[in-house]
Amino acid sequence: MDPLLRANIWHVRGRTRDLVVDTGLGVVPLRSSLPQLFERDPLVVVTHAHLDHMGGAHEFDSCLAHPAESIRQPDRGSLHGPTLAIELGLEDEELPESLLTELPSPGYDPRNYALEAPSTLVDIDEGDVLDLGDRHFEVLHLPGHSPGSIALFEPQSGTLFSGDVVYDLTEDEALLDQIRGANIADYVSSLERLRQLPIVTVFPGHGRPIDGRRLREICEDYITTRSPHTRRPT
Ligand SMILES: [Zn+2]
Ligand SMILES: [Zn+2]
Repeated sequence: MDPLLRANIWHVRGRTRDLVVDTGLGVVPLRSSLPQLFERDPLVVVTHAHLDHMGGAHEFDSCLAHPAESIRQPDRGSLHGPTLAIELGLEDEELPESLLTELPSPGYDPRNYALEAPSTLVDIDEGDVLDLGDRHFEVLHLPGHSPGSIALFEPQSGTLFSGDVVYDLTEDEALLDQIRGANIADYVSSLERLRQLPIVTVFPGHGRPIDGRRLREICEDYITTRSPHTRRPT
């Protein structure tokens, strides 16, 4: 996949229940590709409704997400760059014609790609706790990238699954806060919250894990440049 849609799928083994955070793009079926991970029915959380996170959600009996996300009636999604740019409100970006860099199988036709809604959706919101027996994750509602973006935080270990709320950035990258459904003021508040939590490790929606120090640096950079109180030198 083009890096834009190369999203992480996190799998956590718990004592009584397993957890899956995000489900990939759905170009290749997740369950039948990795059956050893899904012998027990996991709790499946979709951090938000973008195609690279909810593509495989329909393969599971039920899926958990925030009610402000359009998981029940998702956008169609597209692997054609210009079409996807319109859908996401990314018209200013020049996306490649094809977001697939290789075909998953010889007969695969990317024009047939379409997101499917999961059959059963369970609402989760701020303060809910996901109990895996020996591990417990709290739901944080952190709007900004999208209205119902959520992250999962385990206070005991300082672990955060952040979805697209925060991930590592290179010098010329920025968090996506001007796509359809995004809101900069909400994003500032969400990152103000995150920077105050005792987070040790972040498992983000894209790229490698980051530590708490890097997380706070990304939050501070964003807050400084986007906060309405920031005055730019004239
Ligand atoms: Zn996203
Ligand atoms: Zn993403």
